[in-house]
Parts: sequence; C-alpha cells; structure tokens
Amino acid sequence: MSSKTIFEKIVDREIPARIVHETETTLAFLDAHPLAPGHTLVIPKQPYEHLQDLPPELSADLFETVHELTPIVETAVDADATTIGINNGEAAGQEVPHVHAHIIPRFEGDDSGP
Ligand code: 5GP
Repeated sequence: MSSKTIFEKIVDREIPARIVHETETTLAFLDAHPLAPGHTLVIPKQPYEHLQDLPPELSADLFETVHELTPIVETAVDADATTIGINNGEAAGQEVPHVHAHIIPRFEGDDSGP
C-alpha cells in the first residue's frame, strides 16, 4: 500500500497538477481549490511533514523559490499584494502532511486572507 502524500504523487507525476515552476529540489503548482486566482503552492520535492523537519539547505531552497515566484504570480494575475503562509501542523490547519507554502494573490478590498 502506498503511503505517499498527494503532493508526493504530484512530484512523481502520478496525479495531474498545473505545475508552474520546478527546480532540482522544489516544485510549484496551482492550488486545486484556490482562495484567489493564481493561488500557488510551493513544496520541497522530498516529503517532509513540518517546516522544522527540513534540512536547512532545503528550507533555503523552498524560500528561494517562494521569493522568486512571488512577483511572477503577482504580475500574472495583476494582484496588488500577496499573502504568503505555511500551515505548520494539523492544529494550524495543515491538511496535507507535506510542507507547502501558499502564495495567495491579494486584491484591494478582497476577503481571501487567512
Ligand atoms: P493546507 O490546509 O494543508 O495548508 O493546504 C493544503 C492545500 O492543498 C489546500 O489549499 C488544498 O486546496 C490543496 N490541495 C489539496 N489537494 C490537492 C491536490 O490534489 N492538488 C492540488 N493542486 N492542490 C491540492
């Protein structure tokens, strides 16, 4: 029986996703249930559950990808700003047990925030 998370299956191309960016260690794809147009998830390819489980170099890679993609996502959907966040643990609302950063485009007067 497979114990892969849904995000590992996306990394392994076993289930489809709208992949927008890939590096050797990270993958970014559109959220299946976006809080706003362009809502993007950035994950380490390796299946760590919590942010603090990530080796520092992978944490740096993750944030480098978030840093690089944020202005691209904003421009793509003509957003005014972005909310960037990680639900780190079940009690914080983490539904998928594989570290992921949300890049959520924000628009003046919207209601998409956490
Ligand atoms: P969390 O609540 O764990 O921080 O966020 C999980 C996110 O993953 C949610 O925003 C949810 O819409 C998204 N998600 C869950 N399953 C899938 C999937 O199979 N594909 C994609 N692209 N996003 C998913």
